[in-house]
Amino acid sequence: MIMALLLAVYTFRSYVTLLNYRASQSPLPERVRDINDRERYRKWLRYSNELNRFNLTEQAFNLIVLLMFLSGPFAWLARVIAGWTNNPILQTLLFLGVYQGVMFLLEIPFDYYRTFSIEERYGFNRTTFATFGRDLVLSLVLMVSLGGIILAGVNGLYLRYADNLWTFILTTWAVLGVIMLGFFAFLNRWFIRLFNKFTPLPPGTLRTRIEELATAVGFSLKSISVMDASRRSTKLNAFFSGIGRTKEVVLFNTLVEKASEDEILAVLAHELGHERYKDTFRLALMQIGMVGLYAAGVGLVLQNPSLFHAFGLPDVHFGFAIVLFSILFQPLQLVLNVPFMAAMRRAEYRADRFAADKTDNGWMISALKVLARENLSNLNPHPLFVRLYYTHPPINDRIAALE
Ligand SMILES: [Zn+2]
Repeated sequence: MIMALLLAVYTFRSYVTLLNYRASQSPLPERVRDINDRERYRKWLRYSNELNRFNLTEQAFNLIVLLMFLSGPFAWLARVIAGWTNNPILQTLLFLGVYQGVMFLLEIPFDYYRTFSIEERYGFNRTTFATFGRDLVLSLVLMVSLGGIILAGVNGLYLRYADNLWTFILTTWAVLGVIMLGFFAFLNRWFIRLFNKFTPLPPGTLRTRIEELATAVGFSLKSISVMDASRRSTKLNAFFSGIGRTKEVVLFNTLVEKASEDEILAVLAHELGHERYKDTFRLALMQIGMVGLYAAGVGLVLQNPSLFHAFGLPDVHFGFAIVLFSILFQPLQLVLNVPFMAAMRRAEYRADRFAADKTDNGWMISALKVLARENLSNLNPHPLFVRLYYTHPPINDRIAALE
């Protein structure tokens, strides 16, 4: 049944991707026709077609590897590791370490092809081999250290509260919730600096106008920096960080190069809108809520030894419980995505409205068009695809709402 569930989720996801691809072939809505020239749009269609096909291939490959692991190697791995050590936490770390390590290695050629072949051919890629390699090593180090610490901690809590399911779930939720809050408040900024270089925005009209805008909406700025996003891609963005009223503004250098001052100001006003409505905080709360669900899910799996017997494990195994949970949670995740993503899209409309009020309706619309053009956004996504996966409304809907 679990294997059938995996296949069903994959089939459903592929079907929605196909619907989305078909929708992208239909004529464009009037409002977004002037974003790309025809040649560029055709190029985008070819790009997304190729990317979709490639992603589905990768997912199918991952699915086959997982099914293979489920059909015997997981049980074998648990047995071998149990021969090495009696420490249950160490067993969990080794078990998931080996599995994740294999998945990580298998992912590299896919990532490599996506970046240096697909994105390269469509003029999207700016990553060098050195940056690619450095990112790979950094993410591996972070995954092993942070993942290891969190996993060991949760497993420790389980060993302590194994007889009392709800104490385990609530304690795990509380501990992970505090860690996540810390991450949202401080670590985010530190992490992004590991991967990018920041330079202060030089004095000039743009800087003055940004400061005036922030003052006008009641925020003070600690710094305004430009981030070297072009090292990795041509996509444009900007964001605020910091808690309280004092903010740090970060502009992607790609945004500074491709958008006009008016458009940059509109983008920043949109971000200030998110700050004003505390959208980042709300999002953090929603994600912490999800972590509670994860803890409950893992706890429930651990209550069912028959699930472990079915895959040839002699007893309940914490590491394998995490794997099982990640499978069982997939269909639920799809369902939960619907209200989750809808709330995020509502926040985008609200921030657009805020930006248009604080700057200018025309600037905001023009900024959205520049972003859609430079990011090669899908101008015609399928509604079901939007419901399941879109954190931002389609560009046509955003412009319609502003009009
Ligand atoms: Zn936004």
